[in-house]
Parts: sequence; C-alpha cells; structure tokens
Amino acid sequence: MLPGSENGMIHEETGGIRRPSLFCCPVCGERLFREDSALSCANGHSFDRARSGYVNLLTGRPPKLEGDTREMVAARSAFLGKGFYSALRRELERISSGTLDGVLLDAGCGEGWFLENIAPTRPTAALDLSKFAAASAAKRLGAKTRENVEVAVASVYGMPLETGGVSLIFSVFAPWCGAEFRRLLGRGGVLAVAAPGAEHLAELKRIIYDRPPHPEPREHRHEGFELAEEKRVTYSVELGGAEDALELFRMTPHSRSGEAHPERILTSDVRTMTADFDLAVYRRA
Ligand SMILES: [Zn+2]
Repeated sequence: MLPGSENGMIHEETGGIRRPSLFCCPVCGERLFREDSALSCANGHSFDRARSGYVNLLTGRPPKLEGDTREMVAARSAFLGKGFYSALRRELERISSGTLDGVLLDAGCGEGWFLENIAPTRPTAALDLSKFAAASAAKRLGAKTRENVEVAVASVYGMPLETGGVSLIFSVFAPWCGAEFRRLLGRGGVLAVAAPGAEHLAELKRIIYDRPPHPEPREHRHEGFELAEEKRVTYSVELGGAEDALELFRMTPHSRSGEAHPERILTSDVRTMTADFDLAVYRRA
C-alpha cells in the first residue's frame, strides 16, 4: 500500500488517491469516490459537483413531489438565523451527541441549518430534492472542503447510500419513507423525526386561512422500529413585526396553498408566533 493511501483507493489510471464518498452511485449502486470536481464509481458513472459543493444524484424522471423553490429557500435562510427553530436544533444536537459513532444522514436537509453545529463532529450526508436547498446546505456546511460532509440532490424515496451504512437519520419536516429508513439503518440505529405539532404557526394559520387546516394525528407505530422517545417542543416567539410573519409564510408549504390569503398578513397586528414540534425518536429493531 502506498503511503497515505489507507483511506482511499489508488486510481488505476492516474495513480492518485480517490477517497470514498458517503454516497453510492444512483445508476449501479457501487460506491462513489470523491474527485476534485466530481464523484464517480468504478463503472465509469460520474456526477459533477456544483460550485457550491453539492452533487446532483437524481436520475431518471423528475419526481412528482416538488422541491423547495429558490424563494422558499431564501426566505427560510433569512428567518432561521433569527432563532425561531433554535430549540428544535438543540434537541437534534442532543440526539446526535448520544450516537456519535457512524454516519448521520439528514433525509430532507433543507438549507442544512439544523446540521450546522453537528457536521463538524461526525460524518454527515445531507439530501434534499431541491437544488436550491442543496446549494445552500453545501455552502453552510462546507461540503466543498470538509472531507466527511457531503450534500446531494436526491429523493428520500431512493437514497443513494449503502444498505445498513447509516447510524442516525434525521427526518425534519420531510416525508416518511419507512422502507428506506429500514434499509439504511443498521440494527440499533436511530431515527429522529420532527414534524409540526397541532399548534405550530397557529397565529399565522388563523390569519391566512378562513378555515385553518389541522395536521393529521401522528402514527408512532412503524414496522421495524421501536419508539424510544417522544417529546413535544412548544414555545412562543416574539416577532419583529408583520414582515417576519410574511417571511415565515414564504418558507412554509402554506405558501403553495391555493386557500391561503397572505395579503392579510401585513395588515394584521401579529406579534408572537407559536412554534410547536412533535419529536419522535425510534430505534431500529
Ligand atoms: Zn455507477
């Protein structure tokens, strides 16, 4: 073995070191290897890295579910910095520090804000369907320069990672995909799911809807998983003004609803907003 090659494979043609990626090839399933500006597999499939550092691993037909738009990502980046979601981020950091060995996968990472303090501490793979979100996450998490932090555009229903290769999964306001969660997590692996609680953004919903929708009650029994912890995280946040509420509206799926009346926000006297998260932690049985 050549000096310095312990962590990588010798490239057959150039003799250079290629470091294994956390991701697998979405075409053939083989391990991908990191090069300067691309990831590629032994079968010659290659995926360019964008300038921000993410890689697009979406193949085939575009999925039916849309990813977040550029506007949603920009609004969320502006708002997250104000601390509205800080308590949820601390909960996720606590869960991560309890399972520090192995790869963390964020299945639907948005702009990577929840991972900001965690990514420097462990191998981290982050996926999102939106290339705008992925670009933002890649910049925030330093995917271009950090060895063990990688961001890709991919669907959570077919994640380009090795079976059993992940020890912790975050699914934050993202679709539940039990089959993929079961496949990726090794026995004893941990899955943390955060979803909006019934009172989440209650003030906003009362303003924009004639009849505010109620979230479906959550089901905590899932094949292959044992519920290890259930926690409701609820608090109220002071808003800087109605503009903050409008920014919040733009970053949520409510901005896609035909039933919403966002024009009512700026004329409202909304001053506080409820954050309500339903956090469930499962262990792979
Ligand atoms: Zn391949």
